[in-house]
Parts: sequence; structure tokens; C-alpha cells
Amino acid sequence: MANLGTPAKTAEIIKKYDFAFRKKYGQNFLVDKSMLEKIVSAADLNGDDTVLEIGPGIGTMTQYLAEAAGKVIAVEIDDKLIPILKDTLSEYDNVRIINNDILKIDLNALVEEENDTRPIKVVANLPYYITTPIIMALLERRLPVKSITVMVQREVADRMQVGPGTKDYGALSLAVKYYARPEIVAIVPPECFMPRPAVASAVIRLSLYEEPPVRVRDPEYMFRIIRASFNQRRKTLANGLSNDASLHLTREKVTGALRDMGKSETVRGETFTLDEFAALSDRLCL
Ligand code: SAM
Repeated sequence: MANLGTPAKTAEIIKKYDFAFRKKYGQNFLVDKSMLEKIVSAADLNGDDTVLEIGPGIGTMTQYLAEAAGKVIAVEIDDKLIPILKDTLSEYDNVRIINNDILKIDLNALVEEENDTRPIKVVANLPYYITTPIIMALLERRLPVKSITVMVQREVADRMQVGPGTKDYGALSLAVKYYARPEIVAIVPPECFMPRPAVASAVIRLSLYEEPPVRVRDPEYMFRIIRASFNQRRKTLANGLSNDASLHLTREKVTGALRDMGKSETVRGETFTLDEFAALSDRLCL
């Protein structure tokens, strides 16, 4: 039975192993059982599911996941946590602990090896310093992923949901729009963690589409266009894209495409919807 997830139990484990929290790894452990239950229930797991957990910490959520899913692959960077995980998860024979950096590991090979390339579900209380690269990697690497249910900073959860014309709108918002349906499941106060983070958090669930909602000739190229547009936020789209040498686009080609779309030459990327980026990308990739 899951026996972690309270401040007292977490403090006991920390003391037993003389563990020192490492800020550089974004270590804020969950110590609230009702929140843990909420996350695991939002992930909608059954015995056939394989879960990828990023950053199991001392194994608090891993215990809940192991009870709800068929199998859990838990990838933890901090080698000091591995002996702790072996202890707290000793009762569970369906958990594989991997001591590695989630951004360096070959996720496609891992999913193939562990789950026969069947889609997995990702569930995690993410380390906040690398939330965006992790989400982008999960979305863009064409991994077989069914859903991603993660704790992130509230501000990042908002960024995943906003539309054009807001200051938070950017490559992350557009990647989420293209690949998944986002839904905020809970707003989480700092008291639910040990140690307490400075900001509020949120649990967001991304349900991945089987077919993207927008047709585009070359999605990879579209995301290069999107990144270049937001790298130079203060520039017009025409300047931003033609200044990015890796895209090999002349200003004339970009302004011509914008004109074809009925757009002004001075339009900025932050006003463009996903459909408009797709239309622009289709014109520019020819
Ligand atoms: N899941 C635990 C919980 O909810 O109590 C811990 C969550 S804590 C916010 C983030 C965890 O991610 C820590 O255990 C940290 O060591 C781990 N971590 C940080 N960077 C990582 C990386 N690049 N790859 C894998 N794990 C990482």
C-alpha cells in the first residue's frame, strides 16, 4: 500500500537517508495525499497501461502509479535517490527505475524496449527548470504517447492554453495546440510540497490527438518557422524570418506569401493562429 505522501513520512525518509534536497534538480516533493490521488485519477490508468514517470523523487507518486497501472518506468537523474527508491518501491515488482537524465535518454528506444512501441502515458511532478524542453521533446519526437498528465508552474500551464495576441503566447502554446487537447485539472498551492516552491503550481492533462487539427505539408518546417517568429518577438514576421539564416528565406518571399494570405507586411508572429502558421509554412516550403 502507498505509505508516503505526508510531510511526516517524507521527513522520516529524508532523515533516514540523510538526503539533502538539490535545488538544481528542482526537487519539491509532493506531501499531500489528496493531490496525489487527484493526479493519478486524472491520468485515467488501468492495468494495461505503461506509465513513464519523470523524476520519481523518493517514490511517493510512483507507489500510486504502480498500484493503478500495469507497469511504471521511472527515470530519475539524482543518483542519491536511487537507493531510496529501491527501498520505498521494494514491494512493487512492476516498477523499473532508470538512473538517467530524461533529456539525454533515447525515449523512442526506451518505449520500444519497455512497451513494444504501444502508446504510453506520461505522469510526473516535473522539475520546473526544464518543464518546457521536456514537454516539447515528448510532443515533437513522435513518441507513441497517449496522454501527458503533469504538475507544472501555474504560469506554464497558462502558457500552454493561451491564444494569439497575449504575452504568454509562443512556440509552447502552438505545439500544444497542434498535438494535444489541454485541460487544467487542479491548481496546487505551495503547501502541497516539501520544500515549498515560491510559486503556485497546476496539474495539466494533455490528451494527444490521433490526427492533428490542422493540415500542414511539413510540420517540422512549420515549427522552425514558429520558433524563428518568436525568437525575435519585437521584429515583424517578415524581418524575423528573413533574418534567420537557417531558413534561407528572402524578405521578398516572406512578404509575397503574407500578401497572398491577405496579411500586412508588418504583421507580427504573436498575432498568428496555428492555421495561419500552417498556411504560411505551406507557402514558404515550396
Ligand atoms: N515525483 C516526486 C514527487 O512528486 O514527490 C519528485 C518531483 S520533483 C518536483 C522533480 C524530480 O525530478 C526530482 O526527483 C529530481 O531529482 C528529478 N529530476 C530533475 N531533473 C531531472 C532530469 N533531467 N531527468 C530526470 N529526473 C530529473
